[in-house]
Amino acid sequence: MKTDSSLKKVLAWLHQKLKPVKQVFESDLERAIRQEEFVFFYQPQVNLKTGKVVGVEALLRWHHPQKGMISPAEFIPMLERTKLIHELSLFLFRQSMEDLKRLQEMGFNDLTMAVNLSVVQLEDDELASKLEKQLKKSKINPKYYECEVIETSMMEHVTRQVGVLNEISDLGVQLAIDDFGTGYAGFNYLRRLNVQKLKIDMEFVSSLFEHKNNEIILSAMMELGHRLNLQVLAEGVETKKQEEWLIENGCDMAQGFYFARPMPFDDLIRFFGTRKNRNGERNRSETKSKGRSAD
Ligand code: C2E
Ligand code: CA
Ligand code: CA
Repeated sequence: MKTDSSLKKVLAWLHQKLKPVKQVFESDLERAIRQEEFVFFYQPQVNLKTGKVVGVEALLRWHHPQKGMISPAEFIPMLERTKLIHELSLFLFRQSMEDLKRLQEMGFNDLTMAVNLSVVQLEDDELASKLEKQLKKSKINPKYYECEVIETSMMEHVTRQVGVLNEISDLGVQLAIDDFGTGYAGFNYLRRLNVQKLKIDMEFVSSLFEHKNNEIILSAMMELGHRLNLQVLAEGVETKKQEEWLIENGCDMAQGFYFARPMPFDDLIRFFGTRKNRNGERNRSETKSKGRSAD
């Protein structure tokens, strides 16, 4: 088992290293923002107790006219460095809300739409008011909208970013801590912020069966979340064995290739169509390989 997963990791690392890097230029990015070359892929989030899809996470892709689909790891850092990411916030809110509205109009009324906000985006004092305006414009009930933020050391102090997050939370929007367990391991920010969900980083899920201690660590993280009355979501679930362990150990929600890959909006509609009833029972054999990703 251990050798298998180590080998998998080496192969994944090699794959990453050998992948041709699509070089990105700042002028390219400015044009991309102007011409709205960005699209969202959506990845379903599943309630492990009912098997129902209860939300989707919006993951950004750049549809480059010459270079094809580009993954966020290749352009988000430059968007942040150049602060161009501030200009993307409006697009991010508008597009994800329009798509959520379309889903609601198709009868998927209980889905949560989750978007990612980087720490740099949170430097924008206007962010909460931009979000509020778009919620009103799109007629979205804020309880169905969620912002994911990565835990960082800045959250330990009362900083501008924490203030912006509190303003967002005051709108009634949900807050989730992304990549939980990988960042700054002080938990003060959990008291300062009105968080509803912990998203446990996929590293903890992928290494789960490598050592008994890893199971203990993951259980302890889930327990911490539950004792703070938070929902716990496990990221990067790729196997039935992992899903079974998570169900047995009381994890609330999961997301990962085992359920579905991130996919374009139209594929998401088809994905829901292949499920037995509207947002209903699992029908995993049909849905597992439906999604496409930009990887
Ligand atoms: P993240 O928010 O932690 O998103 C999860 C990443 O894991 C996604 O990569 C997703 O495709 C991938 N993933 C999901 N399930 C599995 C699985 O079972 N196995 C494996 N190996 N991977 C899985 P993606 O889409 O390339 O996004 C990478 C990161 O880029 C995201 O990590 C997020 O931090 C950032 N990002 C994506 N969209 C946005 C955005 O709109 N704004 C900002 N600020 N950041 C974004
Ligand atoms: Ca995320
Ligand atoms: Ca994550």
